[in-house]
Amino acid sequence: MQKEILYGRTLDELIVVTKRLGMPGFAAKQIADWLYKKEIQTIDEMTNLSKNMRELLSKEYEIGLSDPVNFSQSSDGTKKYLYKVLGNKFIETAFIPEDDRATICVSSQAGCKMGCIFCMTGKQGFQGNLSSNEILNQFRSLPEFNQLTNMVFMGMGEPLDNLPEVLKSLDILTNDWGYAWSPTRITVSTIGLLNSIKEFLEKSRCHLAISLHSPFDDERKKLMPVQKTNNVKEVIEIIRNFDFSKQRRVSFEYILFEGINDSPRHVKELARILNGIKCRINIIRFHQFPGSDLKSPGIGALTAFREALNDKGILSTIRSSRGVDINAACGLLSTLGQNKT
Ligand code: SF4
Repeated sequence: MQKEILYGRTLDELIVVTKRLGMPGFAAKQIADWLYKKEIQTIDEMTNLSKNMRELLSKEYEIGLSDPVNFSQSSDGTKKYLYKVLGNKFIETAFIPEDDRATICVSSQAGCKMGCIFCMTGKQGFQGNLSSNEILNQFRSLPEFNQLTNMVFMGMGEPLDNLPEVLKSLDILTNDWGYAWSPTRITVSTIGLLNSIKEFLEKSRCHLAISLHSPFDDERKKLMPVQKTNNVKEVIEIIRNFDFSKQRRVSFEYILFEGINDSPRHVKELARILNGIKCRINIIRFHQFPGSDLKSPGIGALTAFREALNDKGILSTIRSSRGVDINAACGLLSTLGQNKT
């Protein structure tokens, strides 16, 4: 019999498990402690549960952790790990060490259905939603787990297209019975799905990053087909009307493509549509990948774009490129992994 998995369940879900097995009411909290506060690998290590209870649990359940199957390391210290999910698919997870922080970038789906033309993952097509177990296993089974200070949902997939499992993961990460991380250490990035952004804002307290990439409808549609049905200006109106106090932040991601979205016209329109919103624009240099005609601008163009936005009163920074020598274009390592199987 295929055993069910414990790691990645919320406290409420663990209560359902323990009730069904006839275990005492406090057992669910004890199991959550073992899963999320102590680094155990087996049910047998849950030593404050009686032997009888451990045996009962082990008959039907296992912890459900799995190590990465491959990795590559950049000369700047960034590492990219490959995890096997959904039976025979691969996803990527990045570990990004900096002076005062260490960030994990997790995937929320295998492949992606959004088809952004600048993204290697988009070219894979959609292969499936990750469970909260598969999302959190990237974090827990990362060899650098104990160094982590921050998490971003900016790996493969669109997190708001897998909202129930992403919200479950955030619950486990931020609740006292789970990892008890501050939500301000976590940023969820989205291309802006209108039917789930409000739910995300209401049910989580984590930071939000919106992939903008062009302020013009027709140009954004060419880069990101999602714009046809999810106009980013409507997303911005939702943001404008949401209370972002209490240390919660919203930022906009802007990948700069040479000759596409880097003109003074773009700066002017960005300043217009973001006027009055307390936010930051993170300008990202495009990482070219095989088969894409899009071009990466020089560092001079990046700096000029940032200065022009700052002059218009839009706080902007250039996100430093990490892991370029191991090909940071998200999706490449997993595409290679897929091709091998
Ligand atoms: S950029 Fe994000 S949403 Fe767009 S195809 Fe890639 S993974 Fe999907």
